[in-house]
Amino acid sequence: MKIPFNKPFLTGKETKYIEEAVATGKISGNGAFTQKCQNFFEDKYHFRKVLLTTSCTDALEMCALLADIGPGDEVIVPSYTFVSSALAFVRQNANIIFADSYSHHPNIDADTIESLITDKTKAIVIVHYAGVACDMEKIMDIAQRYNILVIEDAAQAIDSYYTFRDGTKKALGSIGHLGAFSFHETKNIISGEGGMLTINDERFVERAEIIWEKGTNRSMFFRGEINKYGWVDTGSSFLPSEIISAFLWAQLENMEMIQKRRLSIWNTYYEGLKGNKNISLPLIPSYAGNNAHMFYVVCKDVDSRTALIEKLKENDILAVFHYLSLHKSSYYADKHTLEDLPNSDHFEDCLLRLPFYFELPDDEQQKIIDIINEF
Ligand SMILES: *Cc1c(COP(=O)(O)O)cnc(C)c1O
Repeated sequence: MKIPFNKPFLTGKETKYIEEAVATGKISGNGAFTQKCQNFFEDKYHFRKVLLTTSCTDALEMCALLADIGPGDEVIVPSYTFVSSALAFVRQNANIIFADSYSHHPNIDADTIESLITDKTKAIVIVHYAGVACDMEKIMDIAQRYNILVIEDAAQAIDSYYTFRDGTKKALGSIGHLGAFSFHETKNIISGEGGMLTINDERFVERAEIIWEKGTNRSMFFRGEINKYGWVDTGSSFLPSEIISAFLWAQLENMEMIQKRRLSIWNTYYEGLKGNKNISLPLIPSYAGNNAHMFYVVCKDVDSRTALIEKLKENDILAVFHYLSLHKSSYYADKHTLEDLPNSDHFEDCLLRLPFYFELPDDEQQKIIDIINEF
């Protein structure tokens, strides 16, 4: 039997809730299921305001609009990330200043950020890779000193936390000025395609709702705050239909169970592989939680990774790598001065993600561990 890399997990209630949404006759956006999901997130994670979106990419595009990014503005983005972290800002004609990862972790090296700031810097996009927090205290301190916005690409970071030095614990996506999450089928909590914007800075709350609703103040109209709605700002159709939100609600009802299982899979990989001298395992800094978004190993070099992928493939196991450094991409390489970002390149060459999904059977996971350890 083939072991796939990912398999979307269904709780069983998704189609029931979709039928409910359809039966109410309200299937466009911002209906009962959307509001239930948004309230759930606001209550559980203390985001100031949540708006569901059709993807994390969309939520990042909303961030770029809210931050008023325009031609000539600079946005600092890690190179080792998904395209959307940069693309949302490139579409607003920003210049992307790529940052390197730590040598020991794919997250942005917070100690290099300050040297990348100029008087044109408007925002820093940080990515919580594998749901493991960046050094938020350091990053927020820099942002405050230079009056720069922090946008958390929390696509992989649902239900994960950062602990401040004074012991305060905060959900990822609730610390920066704005945050963006993904419910793509490869993430922990899914709706096929889907995402959300989190707004933690009061200044952006009202405008975010307008941008979300095609530049109109329709949300205020529906709340009875104004008696006519019209075109007041830029925006797009960023909100998902109730069909998507109904699906998502079924996932949220089962979130604890999903997270518990994923954490157990993560721990089994970690325990099974920790004696292996040929690979290094994910590092979780003391300030970061672990939401078990993925399990990756870092091989010694690109050749040993290729050989390991091949070995797994011979045994019908699909392991994949990702993130080609964005600063060297064919789309962006000629648009900026090419910096040397050795750590990003290292993870591009050496990081390998193992099969990870709710229904991964224990015996198949053991087989994966055994093959890697024999290798
Ligand atoms: C998945 C992912 C995205 C994109 O999410 P979509 O919902 O597919 O738009 C963006 N950034 C990171 C880091 C991701 O992992």
